[in-house]
Amino acid sequence: MDEGPPHVVKIERVVRETPSIRTLVLSEEFEFRPGQFVMVWVPGVDEIPMALSSRVSISVQKVGDATEALFGMKPGDRIGIRGPYGNYFPDRGEILAICGGIGAAPLLPLAMSDCVNTFMLGARSEDELPFIDILDECTNLLVATDDDSLGYSGFVTDLLDDTDLVDLKAFDQVCVCGPEVMMKVVLDRLVAKDMAKKGWFSLHRYMKCGIGICGSCCIDPLGICVCREGPVIRGDLLLDGEFGHYKRDGAGRRRMI
Ligand SMILES: Cc1cc2nc3c(=O)[nH]c(=O)nc-3n(C[C@H](O)[C@H](O)[C@H](O)COP(=O)(O)OP(=O)(O)OC[C@H]3O[C@@H](n4cnc5c(N)ncnc54)[C@H](O)[C@@H]3O)c2cc1C
Repeated sequence: MDEGPPHVVKIERVVRETPSIRTLVLSEEFEFRPGQFVMVWVPGVDEIPMALSSRVSISVQKVGDATEALFGMKPGDRIGIRGPYGNYFPDRGEILAICGGIGAAPLLPLAMSDCVNTFMLGARSEDELPFIDILDECTNLLVATDDDSLGYSGFVTDLLDDTDLVDLKAFDQVCVCGPEVMMKVVLDRLVAKDMAKKGWFSLHRYMKCGIGICGSCCIDPLGICVCREGPVIRGDLLLDGEFGHYKRDGAGRRRMI
């Protein structure tokens, strides 16, 4: 783990994944394991956590100031990178990946290393499904869209109800990233099948330092820092806590999910 100052890297290329998601291809490669993240310094704006979507890229969805600034960057622009930090998804056994929208970013490299047997990807509509061509090449891809524009009509978690499509019991690990409401539904399904320990959830929490010092990403009731002991947390550890209910903002105030 690199705890030094940010490496300044150049943006070599920008790929339009969907109307709201861009991949920034960087001038430097990073050694990492799928699920790890970097702290991205956006000059003059902020420093924010981002998963590595490959050894040389981050994929960003604009939701606020820093992500909007990244989204608007052009080849030749510079950003700072600290990390990679945190733990990573398991890569052994039969793996089911479940994600929504930009949640596919940390799971893409797991799929590209041929570790994922079945990949469930959901989004509001067909044009908001990121990485669909590449995922289709390297996994058994199941798609769901809220507006019925491609694949199953409904939420990605509804796919779990179709036992002809996917039998949860057949998997050794279930790796999940996406909106927390969606991840909570997955955890509830795993609990119902007594499989909470097989679920691995990548949590998005407000992070300042990224290295376990400031405490802004600590979660209740465990008190662990998501940046250091996560971001990938095993399902049984998320029961009876804040997961799926609230998260803290930059000032430490609870915000309902
Ligand atoms: C480990 C980790 C990996 C991540 N990977 C990616 C990624 O690959 N691609 C990507 O686009 N985003 C990723 N995120 C989320 C990203 O860090 C936030 O979207 C970003 O910090 C928002 O900053 P902003 O200035 O654009 O928005 P802000 O103005 O700070 O916030 C805008 C909105 O986004 C919400 N928000 C702020 N911080 C977070 C956060 N950490 N998680 C979720 N929502 C947040 C706020 O509550 C608010 O509603 C990741 C987060 C973590 C913790």
